[in-house]
Amino acid sequence: MDVRLQKLIAGTGLASRRKAEELITSGRVTINGSVVKELGTKVDPARDHVKVDGKHLRAAQPYVYLILNKPKNVMSTLDDPEGRPTVKDLLHGVTVRVFPVGRLDFDSEGLMLLTNHGDLAQALLHPRYHVPKTYLIKVKGVLDDAKIEALERGVKLEDGFTAPAKVKKVSRAESNSWLEVTIHEGRKHQVKRMVEAVGHSVIKLVRVRMGPLLLGDLAPREYRFLTDREANRLR
Ligand code: URA
Repeated sequence: MDVRLQKLIAGTGLASRRKAEELITSGRVTINGSVVKELGTKVDPARDHVKVDGKHLRAAQPYVYLILNKPKNVMSTLDDPEGRPTVKDLLHGVTVRVFPVGRLDFDSEGLMLLTNHGDLAQALLHPRYHVPKTYLIKVKGVLDDAKIEALERGVKLEDGFTAPAKVKKVSRAESNSWLEVTIHEGRKHQVKRMVEAVGHSVIKLVRVRMGPLLLGDLAPREYRFLTDREANRLR
């Protein structure tokens, strides 16, 4: 049975559908030895030899989903040109190639989802789906109600106003406070920039929730595979 080339590539877990399209249009895919740049080319997986960067496609692997509690001073990417530690260093015993869904800053901590399910990852990151992300943050100083309300309504950042957020006071001391902030966007350094926009700075940031997933009592540096129930709630 013939299938579209990008579907075949994405189906093996090598790349998301969109990334597979990029692989094709950039000339990295061959069928029976000839480069094919045409999206939608039909292939017969039983007969045609498809290679990406000169390597045979592997058979489809089952989808794997895991959550990791990223500690600070670890990159949320799989490799780092500057040689800093990355989340890959924490995935002892994971033999399937998984990649992070979204980013956390080097000095941020908490929940990261990793998977080999490219299309799902793409969907979760798409602004259209508004996946809520909750951060527990320690902020320098004490924010008054007007500032909390401003954060909830939306503040002006270089890249435009932020969408409405939910902000809950968790506790406060003399010189700093803990807040729980839930946002539905995923701009770079968003929470830190929001807090800076109301005149404060973030001392510590821990992601405790992403969509239906909770960090729970997973210790820093630890990971665990999602239960079937958790994985089903993502899809
Ligand atoms: N917002 C930030 O500012 N940093 C993160 O790592 C995540 C959200």
